[in-house]
Amino acid sequence: IDDTLPTVTLPDRVVVPALGLGTWQMGEDAGKAEQEIAALREGIDRGITLIDTAEMYGEGGAERLVGEAISGRRDEVFLVSKVHPWNASRKGTIAACERSLTRMKTGRIDLYLLHWRGEHPLAETVEAFEELRRQGRIGAWGVSNFDLADMRELMEVPGGENCAANQVLYNLSRRGVEYDLLPWCQKRGIAVMAYSPIEQGSLARNDTLIHIAKAYQATPAQVALAFLLERDGVIAIPKSSHASRVAENREAAKLDLTDDDLAALDAAFPPPSRPTPLEMI
Ligand code: NDP
Repeated sequence: IDDTLPTVTLPDRVVVPALGLGTWQMGEDAGKAEQEIAALREGIDRGITLIDTAEMYGEGGAERLVGEAISGRRDEVFLVSKVHPWNASRKGTIAACERSLTRMKTGRIDLYLLHWRGEHPLAETVEAFEELRRQGRIGAWGVSNFDLADMRELMEVPGGENCAANQVLYNLSRRGVEYDLLPWCQKRGIAVMAYSPIEQGSLARNDTLIHIAKAYQATPAQVALAFLLERDGVIAIPKSSHASRVAENREAAKLDLTDDDLAALDAAFPPPSRPTPLEMI
């Protein structure tokens, strides 16, 4: 069994694991911090070294938690954070990045994303991202919740072609991106980060997934993740505050779904047959 984590190569040739650690809803409750930090460290120990966070999560609480979790081992980790759309002006983006760096006690964010489109012109946000990149404050930049039309518009903005990733809602029950956005990104080497890859936990209770998992003595969450890990250029970022589930999710890389499994998944979760507007959580 090949249990090495698949990887994704970003446009600047940086190689990252195709499985990361989500942090939404972490860092909100001091009483849970110890458990959440343990879960993140379990992930890093097991090679899940990409961490996804945002200034929005826990109003900075998630970034502070990440800062604690990676303390003393910053170099092992590929750090992704996001600027809130209402901060995403030329100056606001740079100031928001500085605040995120301070909260995470690091000098650099490896991949910095615009969380979703807001009122600030894309050209301003991209200008700020490019400046942060020149300063070495960020390694690369990307976007989130951008549908195909948004991506096309981004490509027209000066520097827009430097976009390294688009983080979108993508899992078995949300396959719309497979119609056009995913192939469009794959063709250009723009990584697609699949958020809510277990549909916020509900795919772990799905009968089809339970059935497929049984044949492998695996779990339904692992099947949901394996489905994404099969795809080129896709990075799945499940969140768990439990070290045991982080370990379970890591083992999804061992699952090799057969053509029959994939056909059963297609029957239960039909792939899109027409353009489908991007959904958001
Ligand atoms: P996920 O699909 O990752 O599901 C998380 C939920 O599933 C949690 O309740 C978790 O519970 C549970 N879970 C995790 N692993 C297992 C398992 N093996 N078996 C059963 N249940 C499990 O949803 P998220 O919405 O959190 O998405 C993941 C990440 O994507 C976020 O944390 C965030 O970083 C990012 N994101 C980005 C968005 C954007 O707009 N860019 C929007 C939404 C998410 P528990 O923690 O208790 O183990």
